[in-house]
Amino acid sequence: MAKAKVLLVEDDPIQARETEEILKKTGYEVFWAQDGINAIKVVKSSKPDIILLDLILPGLDGYEVCRWLKLDDSAKGIPVIMLTVKKDLSDKISGLQIGADDYLPKPYNELELNARIYASLRTKGLQDELRMKNRQLEELLDKVNYMAITDALTGLYNRRKFHDTLAGEFERARRYKTPFSLVMIDIDHFKRINDDHGHNAGDVVLKQVSALLLKSVREIDTASRFGGEEFMVILPSTDSSSAKVVAERMRDMIASFPFQDINRPITVSIGIAGMPDERLRNEDLMIRCADIALYRAKQSGRNRVEVASGADLDRTS
Ligand code: GH3
Ligand code: MG
Ligand code: MG
Ligand code: MG
Repeated sequence: MAKAKVLLVEDDPIQARETEEILKKTGYEVFWAQDGINAIKVVKSSKPDIILLDLILPGLDGYEVCRWLKLDDSAKGIPVIMLTVKKDLSDKISGLQIGADDYLPKPYNELELNARIYASLRTKGLQDELRMKNRQLEELLDKVNYMAITDALTGLYNRRKFHDTLAGEFERARRYKTPFSLVMIDIDHFKRINDDHGHNAGDVVLKQVSALLLKSVREIDTASRFGGEEFMVILPSTDSSSAKVVAERMRDMIASFPFQDINRPITVSIGIAGMPDERLRNEDLMIRCADIALYRAKQSGRNRVEVASGADLDRTS
């Protein structure tokens, strides 16, 4: 194992030599700086694991060096033990206040010096470990959050995220009277694709259709998998006639895409509902409206886009 690196900041050469010998005997690699400026240089160049910092130094004193260390991002994690002949309580307090981790009054004996260094290094080790664990935990949390809103097969948002997004968009539309559209997409005769080519081939088609949908929308739009072979796209700031243009582009893109190993074109039917529409008083009615439009597209021969409005709710219920 590599030796721990100790930076000894001490202006008295006799004292420094004595301490250095103790430290080397214990098995540390020792760097010596005779004043504050050199101490900072050695911290930068040698990245010590711990710093023994004399309080009274020529030029920058120990307090100032400590203050600098604790403000520097790469140095602030290094434990600092203040060394001083002063036994005054107020010195101890001010040393600890500016961020020193421990305090050792001179003259110190070998055992005490080693014990303090050992304890500080152990604390630093635990803190490093804790930081690492926290980082791993954050990564894990990111992954869990991602999984909670993502459909595993297609990578689109899942149904739960769709409902959240729709609720948010609905609220915004109600408050600011901005338009937005809901586009419901269903693959035509998808059951036959499974029957003729197998379930795995069906999965590949679902992924490919998802990728095509993503390609045809803007960054602010959200595409979700609503169910088996049904998808929802939310288009903010888009009224239903503009949504129809987008939907026709999706429909066309999918109908003309050469799906591998599938011997016929794959098409989708699309239903659209748009806000503002005073009959669509809540999200569920908006979804029902898009579903009515989709049903109409299926009835009219599939591979079509239809738009429905709140008034259509009466005709079908
Ligand atoms: P229509 O044009 O009327 O929509 O006909 P359809 O065959 O697409 O509709 P239907 O609802 O009868 O069939 C949907 C099929 O989608 C049935 C189901 O087995 C299949 N399916 C649902 N989820 C998945 C999936 O994750 N992977 C695969 N491969 N198939 C799925
Ligand atoms: Mg001194
Ligand atoms: Mg369906
Ligand atoms: Mg279908």
